[in-house]
Formats: sequence, C-alpha cells, structure tokens
Amino acid sequence: MRGKKGSRDVFYNGQVVLSNEQFVLHNHISTSSSDKQQLIPCLEGLEKNTGSYPDVGIFDSGYASFVNDTFAKEENIDLYIPDQEFGKTNKNKPYYHTNFQYDPEIDIYICPKGKQLSFYKKGSKNGFSKRIYRGNECESCPVRHLCTAAKARTIQRDDRQYLRDEMNYKMITSKGQAFYNKRRHKVEPIFGHLKYNLGYQHFFLRGQSKVTAEFNLFCIAYNLIRMMNSKLKLIFGKLTKIIAVFIRQIFIKLNLIVKELIFNHNFYTSILLRCIRQ
Ligand code: SF4
Repeated sequence: MRGKKGSRDVFYNGQVVLSNEQFVLHNHISTSSSDKQQLIPCLEGLEKNTGSYPDVGIFDSGYASFVNDTFAKEENIDLYIPDQEFGKTNKNKPYYHTNFQYDPEIDIYICPKGKQLSFYKKGSKNGFSKRIYRGNECESCPVRHLCTAAKARTIQRDDRQYLRDEMNYKMITSKGQAFYNKRRHKVEPIFGHLKYNLGYQHFFLRGQSKVTAEFNLFCIAYNLIRMMNSKLKLIFGKLTKIIAVFIRQIFIKLNLIVKELIFNHNFYTSILLRCIRQ
C-alpha cells in the first residue's frame, strides 16, 4: 500500500477496537492505508466476538465516510466521528467550500459575501446522487476571481450530507467533546505501548495471514497485561506500579527471546528436525 510519504511498499495497517477498560475486543490487519473502509469490518468483528454491536462507537476522523454513517444509523450505533474538516477554520482560504453555510429550511447556501447559491441541478458521484447549487450574483462579484474560475460558483452537496451535518453537530456538544477526548486516552496507549515500550516498530513476518497471527499474539499479550495490572491493583494497591515494572521487564526479556526465535526460526527448526531424525 501507499505510505505516508507517497511511496509504495509492504505496509500493514493494524486495527483494534477497545472496550472502556481498554481491553482489545477485536483486531484485524488491513493492507489499505485508508481507515475509511475498516470501520465496518471493525464493528462486524466486534459483533462476532461479543455478540452485539456497541451502543456507542468513537473513532477518529480517518474513519469518517457516508457509508460508515449510514451503517451506524441502520444498526442503531451512536457513532462519534468528526470529519476531516471538523474544527478547521480555513481562515487563509476564505472561499473554501466549508466557509459556505447551508440553510436546510430554504435549501440554499450562503457564501462568505452573504450572497445566495440556489439549487441548480442534480448530479451523481459513484452511484450516489448529489445536488448542485449555483451562485445567483457571482457575475457582479468583485472577488469572483478569488472564489471561482467559472462564471458562477457552484457547491455540490451529497444527498447523505445530512448525516455528516448531524455528526458534526453531535461533535460540538459537550457530550461529543467529552467522548472524543476520552478516545485519545483509550486508544493511543496501546500503540504507544507497542511501539515505544516494547520497541515493536514493525511486524516481523510477511503476508497478511502471518501478520494477522503476529498481531493476534500481541493483542492477547496486551489483554493479559491489562488483566494482570488490574488484579495487581486489587492486591497490592499503591505498590502495583513497582511490581508491574518488574513483571514488565520479565515480559520484555521474553519478548526478546520470541523475536530471536522468529528471526532465527529456520536455524532452530533445522536443529529440531535434526534432533527428531536422530
Ligand atoms: S463569486 Fe459568488 S459565491 Fe463567490 S463570493 Fe462572490 S458572490 Fe459569493
């Protein structure tokens, strides 16, 4: 897949769904650099593992899409996903489409100069219909050259845009903000732990099924560590941190041994085979 810098290489995109208590409830590997298509597999995987879809789901803006919004609506999942433009003021781009306000009551857009864009015609994109709005007074507008190269500015509105509008409205409520802030503290630690505590910067195997198995092992180990930490908290109270660090060191040593085994598995396998033959 394409990497962050645009280069094509072998990358794997690890997806996890966490519970409120930060246990991994579902994980899978994708080979797509985009997260958009991964939300439904995440929710379906969660449903397979736990028997039901969650009441509430919180994902980052990379997962925002009309398809995901529609799926959540159909399955009665209260999703919180800001879109990529959410919270951006685009002050240095005053005529950017997000600076045009839609008025659903009279079905028009208002441009940054306070002029109306009325419904012009219908269109479609990727099989989904959209409505196109066109400026009524653009020809005499003194800033038209900054706004559009055409005679009049147009704005396209997907018929499912109301789902995004509802979502963005939810995201600015105090409940939406609180949920979203919570997400950062819940999801990022697992990847931080993986990359920085365990030094697990890349997968050791190649091929989606092998990488999936490797990622499964990591997630199982992560859940075991979380279980251990919560049990330790119950037993040792304030001493938990010291004991957890000690046990974590043992895990890190074990992890190094496992890495060594994976790196040199051909060597160890050949020794094993020789022993069996003898
Ligand atoms: S060109 Fe049209 S849409 Fe753009 S600012 Fe002027 S009046 Fe508004």
